[in-house]
Amino acid sequence: MQVPAHFFVLSGFLGSGKTTLLSDLLSDADDGRVAVIVNDVGQVNIDGALIAVQSGVPMATLSNGCVCCTLTNDLPYTIEALIMERERNGGAPFTKVILECSGLSEPGGVLRSLSPLAALGMRVRVITTYASDQIVGSDDFALAAAQLCAAHTIVLTRMDLASAEQVSEALTFVQEMGPMATQIVERDRRERARVSFATDNTGVPAPGRPERLLDLKGAGHPRVSVFAIQWDAKLEWTTFAAWLENLAGYLDTRLLRVKGLVLLDGCDESILIQGVGQHFDTPRRIPGHESVSSLVVISRDTILAEIEGMAPHLPGARYSMLRSPGAGGSFRLARPD
Ligand SMILES: [Zn+2]
Repeated sequence: MQVPAHFFVLSGFLGSGKTTLLSDLLSDADDGRVAVIVNDVGQVNIDGALIAVQSGVPMATLSNGCVCCTLTNDLPYTIEALIMERERNGGAPFTKVILECSGLSEPGGVLRSLSPLAALGMRVRVITTYASDQIVGSDDFALAAAQLCAAHTIVLTRMDLASAEQVSEALTFVQEMGPMATQIVERDRRERARVSFATDNTGVPAPGRPERLLDLKGAGHPRVSVFAIQWDAKLEWTTFAAWLENLAGYLDTRLLRVKGLVLLDGCDESILIQGVGQHFDTPRRIPGHESVSSLVVISRDTILAEIEGMAPHLPGARYSMLRSPGAGGSFRLARPD
C-alpha cells in the first residue's frame, strides 16, 4: 500500500476556522496529492464537503458520530479505503491526509483510533485552531485544554475579526494551555495555511538535549501545571510501565501530555515516551547518550503531591513543578504584523 507520508489531525472548536484553514491550504496545493477526511456529527459538514468538491480533492466523510469516541473503528478503514482507491486509479501516492475533526473531538481519542495503522509509519501531527476572538468559558475548559495541549501546532485564526488586544490575549492563553506546541500567528491566510501544514518538524527531540523536551513559554494557566521527573539510575521497564499506567489511570481526563526520554535496564539507547490524553505511542528507541531520564507531565487541576505519590515508587526520582498554576511569567507579545 502506498502510505501517505503525513497524517494531520485538525482539531479545534466549532467556529474556530478549521474549514477555512483547510480551504486556504487546498486552494494553494497544486500537486493534487492531498486527501481530506471530514468528521461531521449529526449533520453534513457542508463547508468541508464543498471545498473538497471545489478543489477536486479526494474526500471521505465520517458521519453520525464523533471520530474520537464513537467512530474509532471507522477511521483506519476510511484511510485505507482512500489509499486503495488512489492506487486503483493509478494516482501518485498522497503526501498528506488531513482529518478535519468535529468541534467536540479530543485528539487523544483520535490518535488512539489510529493505532491499528501504526505499522504503516505515517507521521501524525495534531493541529489545533483557536479563534482570536474566542473566550473559553468554564464549561468548555476541559475540552480546550485537551485540544490545545495535544497540539504540535496551534494556529490563531480569525485575526481579521479580532482587535490587537484580543489577539494578544488569545496568544497568551494558547501558550499557557499548550506549552509544547509551536504557535502560528500569521495574518496572511495563505501563508498561515502553508506554515500550519509544514512537514519539516518531526516533533522528536534532538538526541543529547533532554532540556529541549520542553521550551516553556509564557506564564502558567491557573489550572494547567507542568511537572518534571528526573532520575539517574536505569529503571526496569515493568516498574516504569506500571507507574505510567497508574499515572494515566489516576489522572484520567486531567492528564494532557506526557513526553520524555528515559533510560531502561538492558538498553543503551534512550526510549522516547509520548502520550496525548490517555493515548500513548509505542515507545521508540532514540540514538544518543543521555545520562539522565527526564519526563515531563502536563496535567490540569493537579498538585505536585499527587504526582510524587504515584505508585510504584521510581527509585531515585526527583520531582519538580516546572510551571505552577497561575505563576507569573515575563512573556510579552511580539506585535503581529
Ligand atoms: Zn468524540
